[in-house]
Amino acid sequence: MSKLLIVGTVAFDAIETPFGKTDKILGGAATYISLSASQFGVESGIVSVVGGDFPKEYLKKLNDRNINTDGIEIIEEGKTFFWKGKYHNDLNSRDTLITDLNVLADFNPVVPEKFIQPEFLMLGNLHPAVQMAVINQIPVRPKLVVLDTMNFWMDNTWDALMEVIAKIDVITINDEEARQLSGEYSLVKAAQKIYEMGPKYVVIKKGEHGALLFHEDNVFFAPALPLEEVFDPTGAGDTFAGGFIGHMAKTEDISFENMKRGVIAGSNLASFCVEKFGTERMENLTHNEIQERLLQFKLLTQFDIEIG
Ligand code: AMP
Repeated sequence: MSKLLIVGTVAFDAIETPFGKTDKILGGAATYISLSASQFGVESGIVSVVGGDFPKEYLKKLNDRNINTDGIEIIEEGKTFFWKGKYHNDLNSRDTLITDLNVLADFNPVVPEKFIQPEFLMLGNLHPAVQMAVINQIPVRPKLVVLDTMNFWMDNTWDALMEVIAKIDVITINDEEARQLSGEYSLVKAAQKIYEMGPKYVVIKKGEHGALLFHEDNVFFAPALPLEEVFDPTGAGDTFAGGFIGHMAKTEDISFENMKRGVIAGSNLASFCVEKFGTERMENLTHNEIQERLLQFKLLTQFDIEIG
């Protein structure tokens, strides 16, 4: 069985959407990624850091889904990373109101012995120097390294970001971030510029408008499922990434053809994430619900047409 190592924030989030608001709830990129990837039954572990204020029952929620949390360092006298965001009425864009790095500010990641040789490595959204420090601890290059990042790190830690991007296979970012990273408006041109930075595969997430997978001259499009209820988009991007890497780790096939299925798996899982606040929907998701929705994805995109 292949092993998946996930690096990213484990956090408190406070979220405001047009439908309501929450106080500090469980959040963080690694949290969403791992909950999503756990649907594929691969052995997974998280490397992250939290403060003494982080409830033990949150760790148990992850352990209950077979996610190893030995690599989540607890700094008793410190405070957990805190993020607060507010969505606009269209739910497609949001403002970050607070980013308190807290214990993340001086985080030195240590990969537990059990996960020192992962076959799949997911570098979730986090300080690029931390992502790099994890790469440097792994003696044998994993089969696939996927990185997710965001504008915050482009604005604040550009050089460190360039260094880690040079080492990875797949980058997942949203359309706005792809434009910022590349300086190109066209997403096709943006992907080409990003190839030059290192990754051979570029996944551009477009929220409710789906995701694009670029590789050389190939491009594949996965729609997002049109949903009746969208409650809270927080974590959708991470859930997408978790579904993608979870599928890749389960199938152990890193071809472009299989990455297409990975992108669909990611879109499928993200469609559940947005239906409830925070991680709630991902915690109780069943295998049957996922399979049923995969069928909806097929029906949504299949058509017959004669070309000639
Ligand atoms: P997403 O909606 O997929 O972009 O991810 C939302 C999650 O990212 C939230 O749970 C936050 O805790 C986390 N997050 C927000 N800002 C940052 C940041 N600067 N670095 C790492 N994680 C962050």
